[in-house]
Amino acid sequence: MNLILLGPPGAGKGTQAKILEQAHGFKQLSTGDMLRAAREAGTEIGLKAKAIMDRGDLVSDDVVLAIVAERLKKPDVAKGVVFDGFPRTPAQAESLDKMLKASGSKLDAVIEMKVNDEALVKRITGRYTCAKCGAGYHDEFAKPNKVGICDKCGGNEFTRRPDDNEKTVRDRLQVYNKQTAPLVEYYRGQGNLHVIDGMADIGQVTAAMEAVLAQLKA
Ligand code: ADP
Ligand code: ADP
Ligand code: ZN
Repeated sequence: MNLILLGPPGAGKGTQAKILEQAHGFKQLSTGDMLRAAREAGTEIGLKAKAIMDRGDLVSDDVVLAIVAERLKKPDVAKGVVFDGFPRTPAQAESLDKMLKASGSKLDAVIEMKVNDEALVKRITGRYTCAKCGAGYHDEFAKPNKVGICDKCGGNEFTRRPDDNEKTVRDRLQVYNKQTAPLVEYYRGQGNLHVIDGMADIGQVTAAMEAVLAQLKA
């Protein structure tokens, strides 16, 4: 099963992709995480992407598509992929259709997560991540059971993204509305679009996702 989680920054794509990965054995494919890994590793692509990401613009289609094509060659995607933060432009969406077709696969569903702008700003400015295992948390909405200790791995170091500040988030929302929102109509036209309420709490959003998956299997 190949799914796309489509939604603005802070919609909950990463949170839900990790839950679906655990529950179904799909692989989360986050182009944001992959670009951040390239930055950390200091590769040429990573260094070029840094300035673009820090100001909230999109990295070029050719760079992103090359990373995704490489990732889809690994055998661990056989059970399916949850695309998180990809595609973000019509050109990326068209290329993804071609890549999946070429490998004898296809897209099963696109789940659009709707969240209002003020909630997104709150989610993004309170977001932090375990430095050791990557588990995601929020200052208010998704605290670890024990303050300062990661539920998943017991780690006690956390990181915040440099682009997770109010100014950059507002810029990223504009970029989303202009460059990525047109994909909603693209996928509606393909008959693949499912819209869910992303304002609900994390468990309720997961339940709505599971309802879509059940509908696909039926
Ligand atoms: P995205 O990957 O779409 O940018 P994340 O999954 O990282 O979004 O979520 C952004 C922040 O909001 C995180 O700190 C996360 O813990 C929190 N969050 C995710 N889903 C919800 C939800 N349904 N309600 C409240 N907070 C949420
Ligand atoms: P969020 O889910 O919070 O929007 P991501 O981690 O998906 O953030 O992306 C962080 C940044 O990485 C984006 O603002 C953009 O600069 C870059 N990026 C990630 N995915 C893509 C993509 N598919 N196309 C272009 N740029 C991307
Ligand atoms: Zn951890």
